[in-house]
Amino acid sequence: MKNETPGAAAPSCADEFEPQTLSVAEAQQRILESVEPVHGIEKVALRQALNRVLAEEAVSPIDVPSHTNSAMDGFALKGAELPGQASRAFRLVGAALAGHPFHGSVGPGECVRIMTGAPVPDGADTVVMQEHVHLRGDDQVEVDARNQPGQNVRQAGEDIRRGDVAVPAGRRLGAAELGMLASLGLGEVKLRRKVRAAFFSTGDELRSIGESLAEGEIYDSNRYTLHGMLTGLGIEPIDMGVVPDQREATLRALREAASMADVILTSGGVSVGEADFVKPALAELGEMHFWKVSMKPGRPLTFGRIGDALFFGLPGNPVSVMVTFYIFVQPALHRLAGREATQPLLVQARCATGMRKRPGRTEYQRGTLRSDPNGDLVVSGTGPQGSGILRSVSEANCFVILPLESGSVEPGTLVTVMPFYGLL
Ligand code: AMP
Ligand code: MG
Repeated sequence: MKNETPGAAAPSCADEFEPQTLSVAEAQQRILESVEPVHGIEKVALRQALNRVLAEEAVSPIDVPSHTNSAMDGFALKGAELPGQASRAFRLVGAALAGHPFHGSVGPGECVRIMTGAPVPDGADTVVMQEHVHLRGDDQVEVDARNQPGQNVRQAGEDIRRGDVAVPAGRRLGAAELGMLASLGLGEVKLRRKVRAAFFSTGDELRSIGESLAEGEIYDSNRYTLHGMLTGLGIEPIDMGVVPDQREATLRALREAASMADVILTSGGVSVGEADFVKPALAELGEMHFWKVSMKPGRPLTFGRIGDALFFGLPGNPVSVMVTFYIFVQPALHRLAGREATQPLLVQARCATGMRKRPGRTEYQRGTLRSDPNGDLVVSGTGPQGSGILRSVSEANCFVILPLESGSVEPGTLVTVMPFYGLL
């Protein structure tokens, strides 16, 4: 493993359950080092490709625009004939509309009426916008001196040349990419196959929606936040329900998950010193690493592999699930799906509220980011930050990242903010 400090043991099964403390960046790096993109490639019709990942670069078979055309409604003429001073009259010899080219050639002293998107006719290289001319009679167009040769013309191939890479491999296809690929006449694209993620919740206290709650029981919400985040990332979710806190049931669920998924996610049952069957089951079936990550929420993180499937054992608390998913699982899923690596956008904002914190761990507090009337970024906390309080995420549009060494933050302090990108 890279960047290992002397004497620091690499994580392995030999760790047993002796957790080592890692920084968020170290844990992220260790996870990413063990992820390879899925292999399968499939051809998919353009509309079905939304949110999927391009497996091979899309090369343009044509120039875009395919013909030199007008950027304005106006008159096409020879730029060399524009008046340097005063004005000059041109004779109108025809019209070019989008989809209806002018088939003749523009001769000396002539111009052609042209609409936006229409091909610039032979002999012309410049368009004078209609607001800059005076019409004299039926066929005389007077142009004044404020125009430049070549203006208002979009050259063929100016956006993309034939043979250029229009969309790189690894790009997630959004609405703009669908439009770009359509503009090249490409009706099908080669995509990485969809990543499959199987997940289950652990905990004898958990009930599914539709069941009634006995004393001490709660509804399972983690399977719903995981469903939402996976689907939002274009991952195929496989919901395996609630698995009781029992050794056999946990082993069975993990084996089944590994047989059908690229990634296995569990929530709960990985804290220290509780009815904990996830870690020993993982160690029995595959490779188990248990890390104490110096972050809040989400300190205990179990990571490993069963056969070819990656494994993430997320904490049980609902907010911890969402934070650890965002910080650790999401980048791993991106790599697994073959997506190009991107760095999250971080911005500085002034705290409108104080934020309570003790030094020692990096905290991901939930906040709302907005701009004040001066256009400066301001962030407020979303109230109580307990790791069971999902409302703190629901009302947020960003994480406020308070570094390890930081204590409580006074109102007015500049803090680092990571906006959510639609996923949360
Ligand atoms: P655990 O990590 O299993 O100790 O769980 C920590 C806390 O999260 C406990 O209060 C659990 O009841 C709660 N919890 C665990 N799993 C879920 C779940 N799927 N939905 C809602 N709360 C959960
Ligand atoms: Mg539990």
